[in-house]
Amino acid sequence: MTMDETDLRLDGNAVAGMLAEMSGFEMTVCWGACAGCGTASQLGAALVYAHGMGVVACCPNCGQYLLRVVRGEGRWWLDLRGLAWLQLDEQARVAG
Ligand SMILES: [Zn+2]
Repeated sequence: MTMDETDLRLDGNAVAGMLAEMSGFEMTVCWGACAGCGTASQLGAALVYAHGMGVVACCPNCGQYLLRVVRGEGRWWLDLRGLAWLQLDEQARVAG
């Protein structure tokens, strides 16, 4: 019997559990890379603009947005298309 991708496939609960573990980080010291120019920077170095119900964080090198967060009507929207990757260091986990 050969192993194919269905042997590696999990259901949505697996990723939901991992995402739940990703809360409680001090995000300003976490690193992210711009999907536009590839520059890696700590989120604390991003250029942040408030707009309406949320904020936009932009790349300090090229100005493209990295992420957008909007809060309203009891919901949060998170747009991460501007990030190639985001690194959450366990050292940056806030106690509590
Ligand atoms: Zn950039």
